[in-house]
Amino acid sequence: MTIETRTSIVWDYAPAPESADHIRLEDRYGLFVNGQFREPRDGRYFPTINPATEEPIAEVAYGGPEDVTAAVEAARAAFPKWGALGDLERAKYLFRIARLIQERSRELAVVETLDGGKPLRESRDVDIPLAAAHFFHYAGWADKLLYGVNAREVRPLGVVGQVVPWNFPLLMAAWKLAPALACGNVAILKPAETTPLTALLLAEICQEAELPPGVVTILPGDGSTGAGLVRAPGVDKVAFTGSTAVGRDIQAALAGTNTHLTLELGGKSANIVFEDAALDQAVEGIVNGIFFNQGHVCCAGSRLLIQESVRDEVIAKLWQRMGRLRVGDPMDKNTDVGAINSAEQLERIEVLVAAGEEEGATRRSIACELPKRGYWFAPTLFTDVSPAHRIAVEEIFGPVVSVLTFRTQAEAIEKANNSRYGLAAGIWTDKGSKAFEVASALKAGVVWQNTYNHFDPTAAFGGYKESGFGREGGPAGLRPYLEVVR
Ligand code: NDP
Repeated sequence: MTIETRTSIVWDYAPAPESADHIRLEDRYGLFVNGQFREPRDGRYFPTINPATEEPIAEVAYGGPEDVTAAVEAARAAFPKWGALGDLERAKYLFRIARLIQERSRELAVVETLDGGKPLRESRDVDIPLAAAHFFHYAGWADKLLYGVNAREVRPLGVVGQVVPWNFPLLMAAWKLAPALACGNVAILKPAETTPLTALLLAEICQEAELPPGVVTILPGDGSTGAGLVRAPGVDKVAFTGSTAVGRDIQAALAGTNTHLTLELGGKSANIVFEDAALDQAVEGIVNGIFFNQGHVCCAGSRLLIQESVRDEVIAKLWQRMGRLRVGDPMDKNTDVGAINSAEQLERIEVLVAAGEEEGATRRSIACELPKRGYWFAPTLFTDVSPAHRIAVEEIFGPVVSVLTFRTQAEAIEKANNSRYGLAAGIWTDKGSKAFEVASALKAGVVWQNTYNHFDPTAAFGGYKESGFGREGGPAGLRPYLEVVR
């Protein structure tokens, strides 16, 4: 293993820690069912910890099988009234939720960072504003559903069960809840075990917005809570974001049933740099593509394809840029790369990185002082990677980029598509026509040109192949929550 030191640091930022003094978290959170926080039926609670310090933050109720049944009953009871409510009335509730997210944005950003380990700068500038933007966007759609589905007559599906991962907890909750509610469905959301807090604060926001009881249920727990929810009788539609393995399990369980399903799964997205690209700009895009949110991003640009003629130059610039990344306290507003979300995720990253070294790729990790406690992984660059290496094939979900090269446009397309996934891709080129040609040949749900990880509630997001099916965002995100009547 080569660990190279930074060349030099001539100056650095002074610490700029965000304060957590204004945060008023409860010691214990119940399940949010029928508009109220309540005790779990079997009395089980689990701690949620701060991955940057390993300190417990709060205890959270564990949703067991009886809780899932009670949640579905409450949601079923709420559905007729909510589904029949005037479109404009539903829109008003969504607007209220969006406004309340904005009002509580500072608190939500801090809690997201404490619970998940992501840099505060990202929670504050990306996660929380985008979560509010999704509610605003779908509030706007609630009385225009007809225009979103080609003027067909539609109706809501009923009770939707939604399972979200830990990488963008509140944002994923907004992606799921906002379109479901706008279309007149009621929703039961299962947040990830390691990051339940902002979903529970969203439950408080639903109370503040006076959302009718049962329209939104928040059911924390672990994988078995999710497994119970997606199989529960009375759930009409399941929307899942997470790993391909769990997505496959859910699809198998629902095969032959009447339950609608959309899956947003993993990825191994290609970020393609052509020789005519603005290379400094491309390097910024590569860094954003793989180190944003510690690489815990389903569409992370984890396979970097560089045209051979500029390979050495891009790698040199990238390595130099990586040396300036500040890794550490996520609450510091200068931090670029925060804590890994959990001990389990850190172990997965370490296993795959070790496999990369064993298979013969060359590893470079930036030298940085990591905090003594918590879960950390230094930003890492692999070169001499062959397309068959595990680090070129499997989703690492960490701050690790694997570099491959290509000579021609055709080879770039072939290598980019040589994946069982198909979630996203990036193209860096100065030539518009080349970008369009390559984009239309890529089997990826989202293709960014001269940018990366750019999210917008008006744009559809989703995958091909083992990255799942169904689209979220924009008018396309309405369709999975509606049944066409005529
Ligand atoms: P999972 O797919 O296990 O978790 C995603 C969500 O599904 C969580 O809420 C989880 O609950 C829940 N869940 C777990 N098992 C089941 C089940 N059998 N039925 C229904 N729901 C279930 O992802 P992991 O957290 O285990 O991460 C593993 C790998 O998955 C990562 O390394 C990464 O490669 C990939 N991943 C991809 C994501 C994406 O956005 N595409 C997001 C997260 C992970 P709980 O957390 O409580 O166990």
